[in-house]
Amino acid sequence: MSETERIDSEKITHYQFDRAADAMGLDGETRELLKTPFREIQVKIAVKMDDGGLKVFVGYRVQHNNARGPMKGGIRYHPEIDLHEVRSLAALMTWKTAVVNIPFGGAKGGVACDPKRLSPAELERVTRTFVSMLDTVIGPYQDIPAPDVNTNPQVMAWIMDEYSRRHGYTPGVVTGKPIEVGGSKGREEATGRGCVFVLQEAARDYPLDLGKARVVIQGIGNVGSHAARFISELGGRVVAISDSRGGIHHPEGLPVDRVLAYKAEKRSLAGFPGSRPITNEALLELDCDILIPSALGGVIHRFNADRIRAKLVAEAANSPTTTTADEILEKKGITVIPDILANAGGVTVSYFEWTQNLQQLYWEEEQVNRELKKIMTRSYQQVASIAREKKVTLRVAAYMTAIDKVARATRLRGI
Ligand code: NAD
Repeated sequence: MSETERIDSEKITHYQFDRAADAMGLDGETRELLKTPFREIQVKIAVKMDDGGLKVFVGYRVQHNNARGPMKGGIRYHPEIDLHEVRSLAALMTWKTAVVNIPFGGAKGGVACDPKRLSPAELERVTRTFVSMLDTVIGPYQDIPAPDVNTNPQVMAWIMDEYSRRHGYTPGVVTGKPIEVGGSKGREEATGRGCVFVLQEAARDYPLDLGKARVVIQGIGNVGSHAARFISELGGRVVAISDSRGGIHHPEGLPVDRVLAYKAEKRSLAGFPGSRPITNEALLELDCDILIPSALGGVIHRFNADRIRAKLVAEAANSPTTTTADEILEKKGITVIPDILANAGGVTVSYFEWTQNLQQLYWEEEQVNRELKKIMTRSYQQVASIAREKKVTLRVAAYMTAIDKVARATRLRGI
């Protein structure tokens, strides 16, 4: 994570909020009420390491807003995570759940650690200790964590188990779990799939033929890999894709299934037959129809925004575009589908998972995907229609609809 991102993460969410609040003529009191987090927690996670030594990690949970329902948001494990970043990501969740109109508020959490340097047993102890520290402030009607960067279904299973040890069987305390312990079919693919559903709608508006589009994807984790797969299933050409160490490029399109199998086997993209290597910086600037940043925040910034050549940017990652970059892209006429819409498929299927857990009644994947498509399509159309009517960007329109919903719920409940 760059210095640029750390400085910008909170600024980005406040700036985006204020732009929409200005367009809505929102009063100062409501702004303060909606911007200020509900609760912020920082905890010490002391863990015995495999070598017998002791290590202390710092964990965060920021609960931003619960006007529309229990708070919801992922847990990120990253060595450079800090309270500022978690705070901004928590606010994004409030606006995201409101854009797609699911009955949740927003939260986010993280532990400053590098999971690549931890053994599975150490990772489990870090996770269980973190949950024990958050025990009284999370829960299925209070705050429901989920996966984010460097956390996966196994980590969610440990969270579910640790919480259930103290409170009895409670699968609804966390989403993104493995199917075997109450996860939902289709959850793992949901963020990538939802992003592609939104792109299908946006491409129709643009207009752009998704079946012929040249697509560049930064990141080949949960979100990027599935987005790549669904784009190529629609006939689109994924011309470049990357991981944290760099990417691979082929102007005619990469065979996505084989790339994913190669990455799984070698744990690297380097040397994929027939491709040429490309840095993460150069990848963002490739000539293409659609750019999907699916890794970390702040990657499109003031120094490279002017060189972005995509027609459409779908923000599958959270906050990939800094405020200055956003203005530059707008001036260049590049359409940006904002994160709070483009990557809301994950939290939407998390909502389905939570309802299935509460009812103990499980859906077939076909139902999950059908309902996801309905929500993503409807949300895009609502946002696009506000953007057209108010002559604002998709981002401002998305924030306007989200802020309006949260403000109304707050007023109705009373302060
Ligand atoms: P992940 O850990 O599964 O994958 C992250 C990917 O980014 C990996 O391919 C990694 O190699 C790559 N990466 C890491 N550092 C990088 C760097 N400096 N430059 C380029 N690539 C780098 O994470 P994920 O769950 O796929 O999340 C990716 C993004 O999507 C994050 O911004 C996350 O907040 C957002 N997001 C995830 C979900 C979800 O359901 N997982 C939902 C909404 C938003």
